[in-house]
Amino acid sequence: MAERHVVVVGAGMAGVVSALVMSHQGVRVTVIDQAAAVGGKVRQLQVNGALIDSGPTVFTMRWVFDELFQSVNASFDQLLSIEPLPVLARHAWAEGGSLDLFADSRASVDAIGQFAGHAEAQNFKRFCLKVKEVYDTLQAPYIRAQAPAMMQLMKAMGVRGLGVLASLGAMSSLWDSLGRYFTDPRLRQLFARYATYCGSSPWQAPATLMLIAQVEMDGVWAIQGGMHALPQCIEALAIERGATFIYGQTCQRIETRDGRVCGVRLESGEYLSADAVVFNGDVSALHAGLLGAQVSKPTPKLTGVRSLSALTWSMNVKTSGFALDRHNVFFQHPYDQEFTDIFERHQLPRAPTVYVCAQDRGLSDHANGSEERLLCLVNAPAVGDQTFLTDEAIDLCQDNSFQLLQRCGLQIQSNPQNTQRTTPIEFNRLFPATGGALYGQATHGWMSAFSRPTAKSLIPGLFLAGGSVHPGPGVPMAALSGRLAGAQVLAHLASISSSIRAGTFGGTLMH
Ligand SMILES: Cc1cc2nc3c(=O)[nH]c(=O)nc-3n(C[C@H](O)[C@H](O)[C@H](O)COP(=O)(O)OP(=O)(O)OC[C@H]3O[C@@H](n4cnc5c(N)ncnc54)[C@H](O)[C@@H]3O)c2cc1C
Repeated sequence: MAERHVVVVGAGMAGVVSALVMSHQGVRVTVIDQAAAVGGKVRQLQVNGALIDSGPTVFTMRWVFDELFQSVNASFDQLLSIEPLPVLARHAWAEGGSLDLFADSRASVDAIGQFAGHAEAQNFKRFCLKVKEVYDTLQAPYIRAQAPAMMQLMKAMGVRGLGVLASLGAMSSLWDSLGRYFTDPRLRQLFARYATYCGSSPWQAPATLMLIAQVEMDGVWAIQGGMHALPQCIEALAIERGATFIYGQTCQRIETRDGRVCGVRLESGEYLSADAVVFNGDVSALHAGLLGAQVSKPTPKLTGVRSLSALTWSMNVKTSGFALDRHNVFFQHPYDQEFTDIFERHQLPRAPTVYVCAQDRGLSDHANGSEERLLCLVNAPAVGDQTFLTDEAIDLCQDNSFQLLQRCGLQIQSNPQNTQRTTPIEFNRLFPATGGALYGQATHGWMSAFSRPTAKSLIPGLFLAGGSVHPGPGVPMAALSGRLAGAQVLAHLASISSSIRAGTFGGTLMH
């Protein structure tokens, strides 16, 4: 297939993975990104002389990368230095109390027993059994599937799998379902927060999202060099296999001829012809017409709501007063207000939950008194393309967020030189047509997981990959989406070749 050319628009996680998969099979691949470097949301910012992971920080589901690297005759372990974290996350409440969850689930049971009593520790054990069942039930028929449809999924899960899902409470929300396991409101809040990993509200996310708890309990790893080392490593493997990466160039149009994709037009005016195009931006950009009218009309309108955006602070600062671990979550009450503020009032939360990733901690102790790298994050509405998100509103949310940290004992010596803020407005600029939504459409309601577009679009030769596409957001899921898209493109190219041999190419649609 060496003569075939594929353009990948976007060097985010799914884009770079699809480029690796295709170039490994001898396809000529060109990746275009408007950003200056690989990774998309997996980005680093330089603040006060330090490189700070300013996108994803929680690395899970390493099996996705073990399998990917193996499939291209490479070794994840040899190319990247990754280590499991003993503490999955440290949680603290404004009202008092803190709880660590551990990689060793027996240690978590003990910690929960001390924090909330013996009965809740037993409830946690019951919860662990259930989330494992849910994860095992959905892993093959949903997470790994090209295009899961409700009926096929039910068939693939079988009677036992259906029983597992029914036992969650058909159609119930994650929040409701957690009420059957935990009586301590803090534990319910802690496990409900997992809905935000795919940009959703626990009150509207389906109970099946409790499987994210299993994903974390299977392990959280730290990558030496930061998360950004991961897409950099995959990019290097793709380059070794002949792929070309062009940065600082926006793709303005995906062009079609006779109803099929034929190439892309860059903002420089350059035209690149292609047998197929993988679009790794958010699918809402296609519908909004940002890639041209030829591909916007056939793209089905998205019917759901935008997922969460974020307000983040990348910092190189001195801290004191609270023993941070690698991943830290600071909670306050009332928890539901955060999600009504964001999803119903479309405003920044008045009482945000604050996540702090202390990037120099977790595997070794941090020297007290020296500067350390932090990413602080609060959830935000995806209204970065609206005029009502004002500086005053953002400053107020910032004050509320850092006051919560202080109430929990954490002092951060922050100033404009050692801190860089990113708002939904910047996220919307970086990820066009999203309003700053970082996880595609929210996973709200039972059917939302089936309404995500799949790798194969309605336009022959156009393929989709990324967090807004099946199987959904998150670094490993986007990587899976890149593999699925790569496999679809390879099948498409093979079908073109066989049609050309049979003399039928250009007649009926190939797709
Ligand atoms: C602050 C933050 C925290 C997160 N935390 C976690 C976490 O802890 N764990 C986790 O697993 N996930 C986390 N995520 C989610 C995860 O980062 C994403 O789901 C995943 O990286 C998305 O990858 P993607 O393939 O969709 O590509 P994206 O990262 O969305 O990249 C798409 C790329 O396409 C480019 N592009 C788009 N349109 C064009 C165009 N027209 N021309 C040229 N280039 C274009 C963009 O510049 C971008 O580089 C987080 C995300 C953010 C932002």
